[in-house]
Amino acid sequence: MKTQSELVVKKFGGTSVGSIERIENVAERIMQDFQNGQKPIVVASAMSGETNRLVRLAADINPQYRGLAYDMLLASGEQVSIALLSMALEKRGLKAKPLLAYQLGIRTDSIFSQAKITSVDSDKLTDLVSKDIIPIVAGFQGVNPDGSITTLGRGGSDTTAVALAAALGCEQVEIYTDVPKVFTADPRLIPKAREISRLSFEEMMEMASLGSKVLHFRCVELAAKFNVKIHVRSTFETREGTWVVAEDEKMENPVVSAVTHDASTAIVKLFPVPFGPSFLALLFDSLANKGVIVDIITQSYNEEGQRLAFSVNESDLYMVDEVLKSLSIDAKIVVLRDMAKLSVVGVGMANHPGVAARFFNVLSQKEVPIHLVTTSDIKISAVIDRKNLDKAAQSLHTEFELDKE
Ligand code: ADP
Ligand code: ASP
Ligand code: MG
Repeated sequence: MKTQSELVVKKFGGTSVGSIERIENVAERIMQDFQNGQKPIVVASAMSGETNRLVRLAADINPQYRGLAYDMLLASGEQVSIALLSMALEKRGLKAKPLLAYQLGIRTDSIFSQAKITSVDSDKLTDLVSKDIIPIVAGFQGVNPDGSITTLGRGGSDTTAVALAAALGCEQVEIYTDVPKVFTADPRLIPKAREISRLSFEEMMEMASLGSKVLHFRCVELAAKFNVKIHVRSTFETREGTWVVAEDEKMENPVVSAVTHDASTAIVKLFPVPFGPSFLALLFDSLANKGVIVDIITQSYNEEGQRLAFSVNESDLYMVDEVLKSLSIDAKIVVLRDMAKLSVVGVGMANHPGVAARFFNVLSQKEVPIHLVTTSDIKISAVIDRKNLDKAAQSLHTEFELDKE
């Protein structure tokens, strides 16, 4: 009789399945876990670079296109990796079954490119597992009520894994990736970044929403909701990784626990736009209908009119342009490309005054101009020129005592 605790959902990211050799390595690892008595349920991403290649193909046809065909195209990368991984497991004498979202019943709403999972049919998984068949599930995709393929947003395979773990009642989920832990900053940008062994859902959610792509934002949100612990660990090493868990008293809660960046930011400035909130409502409604996620918004008045600035992901500028044209706005429009959002995050910040002062002092000493700012209880973010990202991020990392010795 198999107990739920033997079930372990394991997600392997793009780099982990990035070549045939790496797929064979993942198959070896799954085989060992299986032989040690685990009942693995595997989620895989597309081979690294593949989804970007598909995005470029779509852009060559029509950079403004989003919708059904776009999601069908982007979801195809995962079909390849799950089929290859299943073959690699079967070559080792194990039974495996590759499953696309529609076959498994990963149902979503109909927001293409940003779909939300509404339900998962976990019976199929438990049935396969009871027959010693290892399910290999395509991450990142779902099926909407019309039966069309949807995708969950870039990096969304993490969310597939947590959704399966939650549906199966698992206490934890394993996210295998190309870094051994979550770090105090992206180690590619800050070589002095330190490893973090434990983080609260709240902090990880903030980091994910501010651009740290090590985990997809929705995956952390879902894990917090269903209290599924996330174990982020390396595919290439066996040591323990980082645990993302509900906050408890034992956590240290440093004032700042991480420096996070998003290097694909752009700013749109409009002046003067019609007075009053109705124009803002119309503009942001039109952008939302196009699937554009608006991040920071600032607005002010003077006697000449209303001034507006907002930040978006650079890849959405085409869509913003289309919306602004459709509204025939009579305002000067300035688009700032090559921006980056740089943030410091920490739950300890809420009880420590002076973090903002230290943040702005560092940027001022490094002569880094700031275009937009936003804060919350546990983060401060500034949009700066991308060319300044490196020095600004390094200096903040040092200022908040995050550098490793
Ligand atoms: P996968 O394909 O396994 O999902 P991703 O590329 O989506 O992997 O996420 C892993 C990458 O996230 C790392 O290679 C690293 O560059 C980046 N990253 C950004 N911020 C952090 C951080 N704070 N800690 C660890 N990795 C980070
Ligand atoms: N393959 C998808 C992407 O590149 C999903 C993922 O990797 O999680 O965004
Ligand atoms: Mg990822």
